[in-house]
Amino acid sequence: MSEPLNIALAGNPNAGKTTLFNHLTGARQHVGNYPGVTVEKKVGICHHGEHEIRVVDLPGTYSLTAYSVEELVARDFLVNEKPDVVVDIVDASNLERNLYLTTQFMELGIPLVIALNMMDVAESRGISIDSKRLSALLGVPVVPIIARSGEGVDLLLDTVVQEAETARRPDPILLRYGSDLDEAIAAMVPVIEEHHLLTDTYPSRWIALKILENDEQIIDKATRVNPEASGRLLAISEEVTNHLMHTLDAYPEAVIADHRYGFIKSILHQGVITIRFVGDRLYTSDRIDRIVTHRLLGPLIMVAVLYGLYTFTFNYSGTMVDGLATVFAAMGDMVDQSLPDGPLKSMIISGVIDGMGGVLGFVPIIMFMFFGIAVLEDSGYLARVAFMMDRIFHFFGLHGSSVMPFIISGGIAGGCAVPGVMATRTLRSPKERMATMLTVPFMNCGAKLPVLTLLIGAFFSAHQARYMFLATMASWIIALLAAKFLRLTVLRGESTPFVMELPPYRFPTIRGLVIHTWERTWQYIKKAGTVILGISILLWAMMTYPGLPEDQLAGFAAERAQLLAASAPEVVAAMHQGDGEPRAAELAAALEEINARQAMAALRHSAAGRIGIALESVSHFAGFDWRTNIALVGGFAAKEVIISTLGTAYSLGNVSTDKTFSLRERLAADPRWNPVVALSVLTFIMFYAPCFVTIVCIAREAGSWKWAFFSMGFNTLFAFVLAVAIYQIGMLLGLGG
Ligand code: GDP
Ligand code: MG
Repeated sequence: MSEPLNIALAGNPNAGKTTLFNHLTGARQHVGNYPGVTVEKKVGICHHGEHEIRVVDLPGTYSLTAYSVEELVARDFLVNEKPDVVVDIVDASNLERNLYLTTQFMELGIPLVIALNMMDVAESRGISIDSKRLSALLGVPVVPIIARSGEGVDLLLDTVVQEAETARRPDPILLRYGSDLDEAIAAMVPVIEEHHLLTDTYPSRWIALKILENDEQIIDKATRVNPEASGRLLAISEEVTNHLMHTLDAYPEAVIADHRYGFIKSILHQGVITIRFVGDRLYTSDRIDRIVTHRLLGPLIMVAVLYGLYTFTFNYSGTMVDGLATVFAAMGDMVDQSLPDGPLKSMIISGVIDGMGGVLGFVPIIMFMFFGIAVLEDSGYLARVAFMMDRIFHFFGLHGSSVMPFIISGGIAGGCAVPGVMATRTLRSPKERMATMLTVPFMNCGAKLPVLTLLIGAFFSAHQARYMFLATMASWIIALLAAKFLRLTVLRGESTPFVMELPPYRFPTIRGLVIHTWERTWQYIKKAGTVILGISILLWAMMTYPGLPEDQLAGFAAERAQLLAASAPEVVAAMHQGDGEPRAAELAAALEEINARQAMAALRHSAAGRIGIALESVSHFAGFDWRTNIALVGGFAAKEVIISTLGTAYSLGNVSTDKTFSLRERLAADPRWNPVVALSVLTFIMFYAPCFVTIVCIAREAGSWKWAFFSMGFNTLFAFVLAVAIYQIGMLLGLGG
């Protein structure tokens, strides 16, 4: 006969431990006290097959904190005596509450079997529980029983023996407690492990948690073993405690408890529990959830809320964005007037000021967007959105939480990928997060919209609204398919089951919202700002150097001088005074035409221009000429640049044209453009490399430039393949007109 197995019965008070204990051991039991305390300890023996099992009935507790003697006794017993298996008795009629203790056993990494007791009571209350599903989601065997009648107890013992024989100690589960606490834990664990602080007895993460929960027993023990390391841990704990008090007005214990309940709720929401009739004992949060995650109402409410967030962000930030633009324009004018013409002035205006404007121009959007998200997040609604969308996203290898970044980036046309990339932080699986980050730039951000409007207006004006809608749909479909592709190739790996917390709803505090918003905005400015300034100057240099050779410059200067010399002096004077006199206006236009030609020649001559021209040998497969190429290269700086560059390029083709002839009409009239080319260019612009601010954000968020470069390469190649396919097929079908 083998060694006797040691099992312990644990659970909430009144879950049925004693009833089960009596059923198992009958008269073979012994009642004593735990050493030093007046807590009753019952030990008994039972036989199952050839196995002898020693059973201990632990005191009932709701938790494993250090608040009561019972809790201390229970957890000391578990870590010191190390029973082979702990049978966690869970009241099926009160599942959510009872599983709270279960999560704590799991965090301690204790070998567990759940006895789902009181199945008869649950049944009579109209609650049915899918125990297989519960078991699969928790990763713990679950056996339904009725302790009073003994139903299911045999199967329970089979399972216990089986579990004991595998003799595995499960890894502690890793719950998340929100970014503040997670960061603190991540800082504490290495300290604990470095000094082997109590790690013989407890998992290191658990020790960190207990210190955060201000657990006196653990803090005492740790301080006695190593006061120096403990001091460091306590300092981290104190800092995050102050921070949480400030932002959420809650102690870490409360936040931790909320997240454990969130974890449980998210599991129960996945078809584990079905309630056939509604009692009056539903909590307020559950009552709200019945409406908000309702199968039909839920999505409608979601669309309304998201639309609200969207309008809020982009409408209200608009004034600030315009205000900032005015400030930067004024700064540019100031420099323009105070510095002599030359490379320094050009660099300060086009490199530094425009670059800074590019960075800071996003700040209002980021601030408003993150404020809106903080409201949704702090109130608990965001988790519900993710919950509802998870099924669709799961199919594409993403997670319910990917929805928000997609929408922010332009899922409703007009967003911005910069805050979108930053919003992927709510995703916890690194691969799902990467896949989301790499595909959100496919959405139609606000900067792409004017280009889309221009091309659609020029070539498909009869169906403008329809094409805009199609463009939005296409961006979603392509993004999801690309995500699926990435998840099947470079980012291959399991999808995380939906174990996001569904925390109880609460009213966000203004202070918490302001702090959250500010933290994220400041992070953006700090992280993106430095790099962006450098790249902005680099792009300026690429579009400026090498400059036109002397003889060409002299040629343009001579043209201007000739024009002025040929004009009557009073007309020249009128022009300098900005007079609207017709001949003066004509002269100004002629001068501008020369300037524009010079600018274009300079652009052609510059590094960016040469790239555009060199690319023509490849890009002609998609129907792009060199002028389009230069605009697309410039579009890498910011998609807004595409229009201005196209404007410069196409204002020159036919010199004699009337000035009022708009870019749109010019493109429509140009022999190298037709609906097929337009569609091809349009598609390319929608999907090619993200603007460099987004790229920098991807590098920052992914923690390496590798992914940022991947994003540039992958998107551009992908967009090009699409564009070539469209152009070639369109031309074959003779749609090019
Ligand atoms: P303990 O506090 O965990 O030791 O719980 P007890 O074993 O004392 O049980 C609390 C109450 O629940 C007692 O009145 C039991 O008779 C009752 N009880 C225990 N198991 C079941 C069960 O499976 N079904 C029903 N209907 N009652 C049960
Ligand atoms: Mg009891």
